[in-house]
Amino acid sequence: LIDLQGITKTFDKEIVLDDLNLYIRENEFLTLLGPSGCGKTTTLRILGGFETPDKGRVLFNGTDITNLPPNKRQLNTVFQKYALFTHMSIAENIAFGLKIKKKSKDYIMDKIKYALKLVNLQGFENRYPDSLSGGQQQRVAIARAIVNEPKVLLLDEPLGALDLKLRQDMQYELIRLKNELGITFIYVTHDQEEALTMSDTIVVMNQGYIQQIGTPEDIYNEPQNAFVADFIGDSN
Ligand code: ATP
Repeated sequence: LIDLQGITKTFDKEIVLDDLNLYIRENEFLTLLGPSGCGKTTTLRILGGFETPDKGRVLFNGTDITNLPPNKRQLNTVFQKYALFTHMSIAENIAFGLKIKKKSKDYIMDKIKYALKLVNLQGFENRYPDSLSGGQQQRVAIARAIVNEPKVLLLDEPLGALDLKLRQDMQYELIRLKNELGITFIYVTHDQEEALTMSDTIVVMNQGYIQQIGTPEDIYNEPQNAFVADFIGDSN
């Protein structure tokens, strides 16, 4: 579905991504895993269109989308900080992007209902973000991304701000959601356990390079080098 070809990105002469090549299959749950600063977020931002690579291309279904702005891509991003509009109700938050697209009122109402059901927040339409827990706010952020019917959801440490119990609940909810939607999830985390639990494919990164790509079983049982072994081993 998505092909990253020879992606290189430099900030202030520091090479953050160095000739990164990655193919992402349709419908997979792919996780970019690695320590802080290894280039995960930058990769996600390039996928989402928030950053342009210095070199290389991003292909979506064979079409070059390297220079397309975020709103022209069939990808939607959910950031760690949920960034809901506090002066708007939950329904208004979810409707925001659809209103810009000039969708009809009925269409928008249906979509809000559908999205809130998917994230288990039926009946929350008229509540305000401040009256919701962190986990509930994060679900609203996900609902807001879903109503645009993206082919791919990009999730940057979406559970990072949540406590452990809620994190675990949300991990299972995200897997369920992905299966129900039947779309591709690209997920960024530095948490080995989270990656091992949730992913079809894990891409272990360090210092702008891919260290290993594989299933959770591959990565766990057959780390290809000392870095991967150490990083995965740290979770135990
Ligand atoms: P984290 O888990 O801490 O978010 P990460 O793996 O997602 O880390 P990136 O956010 O991709 O890493 O950052 C990789 C490197 O690029 C870091 O050294 C960071 O300081 C640098 N960097 C990222 N964005 C910018 C920017 N806009 N300007 C300058 N340097 C940047």
